[in-house]
Amino acid sequence: MPESKTSYVCLACRASYKLRHDPGGRERRCPRCAAALVYVGSAFVAPRRRDTAAWRTLTVLLHAGVRFPMGCSTGPGYRPRTLREVRERLAYARRTGEPPSRALTRPELP
Ligand SMILES: [Zn+2]
Repeated sequence: MPESKTSYVCLACRASYKLRHDPGGRERRCPRCAAALVYVGSAFVAPRRRDTAAWRTLTVLLHAGVRFPMGCSTGPGYRPRTLREVRERLAYARRTGEPPSRALTRPELP
């Protein structure tokens, strides 16, 4: 079986790492700062380190439990890329009681 690698990020360093997926779920550590890495999924594409807004957007997504798994043919599907898109979806979640992790992956708000 081929090795499957997936992405992890360190939000403090704004760095992403491709690592082998550990089915045991052991915690991964950042090689730079030793903080716990966050699993993001194999379809993840890291923003540039200086793109503060993109990293803040990503932080909200990850804290809400949104990940970037590779779909069969579609990739991860829609993910907000700006704080405005995040705020709109979180407001929608509050209004409707929909879980934030679901509202954040809506391409369009009804
Ligand atoms: Zn780090």
